[in-house]
Amino acid sequence: MELENNVYSVQGVSLESLTHEYGSPLYVYDGDKIKHQYHKLKNAFKAVDVHVKYACKALSNVNILKLLKNEGAELDCVSIEEVQLGLYAGFAANQILFTPNCVSFDEIKQAVTLGVKINIDNISILEQFGHEYGNTVPCCIRINPHIMAGGNKNISTGHIDSKFGISIYQLRHVVRVVKTNNIHINGLHMHTGSDIYDAEVFLQGAELLFDAAKDFKELEFLDFGSGFKVAYKEDDITTDIEDLGQKISKRFNEFCEEYGRKLQLWFEPGKFIVSESGYLLVSANVIKQTTATVFVGVNSGQNHLIRPMFYDAYHHIINISNPTGTTRVYTIVGYICETDTLGWDRKLNEVREGDILAIKNAGAYGYSMSSNYNSRFRPAEILIEGGESRLIRRRETFDDIIRNML
Ligand SMILES: *Cc1c(COP(=O)(O)O)cnc(C)c1O
Repeated sequence: MELENNVYSVQGVSLESLTHEYGSPLYVYDGDKIKHQYHKLKNAFKAVDVHVKYACKALSNVNILKLLKNEGAELDCVSIEEVQLGLYAGFAANQILFTPNCVSFDEIKQAVTLGVKINIDNISILEQFGHEYGNTVPCCIRINPHIMAGGNKNISTGHIDSKFGISIYQLRHVVRVVKTNNIHINGLHMHTGSDIYDAEVFLQGAELLFDAAKDFKELEFLDFGSGFKVAYKEDDITTDIEDLGQKISKRFNEFCEEYGRKLQLWFEPGKFIVSESGYLLVSANVIKQTTATVFVGVNSGQNHLIRPMFYDAYHHIINISNPTGTTRVYTIVGYICETDTLGWDRKLNEVREGDILAIKNAGAYGYSMSSNYNSRFRPAEILIEGGESRLIRRRETFDDIIRNML
């Protein structure tokens, strides 16, 4: 987003004018930024055979999937419905990795039938998989390396209490199950959780995976999951992708020598690819002075962007309607009948009722986590590509609210 001649715009398209055309609240995505992030990651790892599997739960509009497919990305799906969406978007089955957690074996069988790659995250399912398919269908194993990453337990999936993956300490048992059932293991996977900015944390996890890999002779890839940190505030520390790329690639190539074969290196970023591309544009409905603060009540809330309430996530907020106004301190809240605070004690250019606020980093886990709570409609979505904006999802209507009610 740039500020030029007092107009906030993306690729030359004024954000405020988009709300005049399509209404608010409105999700807007910068398609060029999405491409930029994808290629930045690809380039950082050009010394290895890197495959980027976009974690589509972050932002699952089919137009975004198509955009990434055209750039060369592949897909990471966590539900059979996401697999269907990926196929619908035009991904080939073998470009899709299915990484579910706590799903029924029936759902795994459906995924096998669709021809996608399978990632198994518990020993019970691994045994059933062995009984059903023997070595006729390969699968990947999701390892939990128990690396604590980031500060928030809800978004860190590698720690000891986590429900994700098979503990690295159970590796002996896993090897027994694999041998006894003659299962073809084609990959090992770990996803340590979000918000890692330290190359050392990645490398620690990598060593554990390299060590585990020695027990499996038919590997084709190692999947290092995701967790690249992106900037939410001006001075946020972020993952230095170039540095990470150099360090990991070097060590990965050494490992392939030891292993005796060139393997593919996979990543499954969600947030890194789409977070910064997205803006949620909302209107200031009411300015409400209380004894404690000045509230700006907007026409959105936890129904459209739940991350601030769910994860205590910081999302920067800007008044795009009054770029030259005096800055004042506000608390920005939603219109939902819950305490849905989008931001406490924020300095914004003076907000007047009717002004449009832009909430940043709304590309990942914004729309995809939205709901109809309070029987509100989900917003429309706009994609800006090559300087042109287009509607990629209509705003919901009352028909969407009552569609399945009998
Ligand atoms: C959610 C998820 C990701 C993506 O995480 P981000 O923090 O958005 O990059 C990757 N892999 C798996 C298995 C996931 O569940």
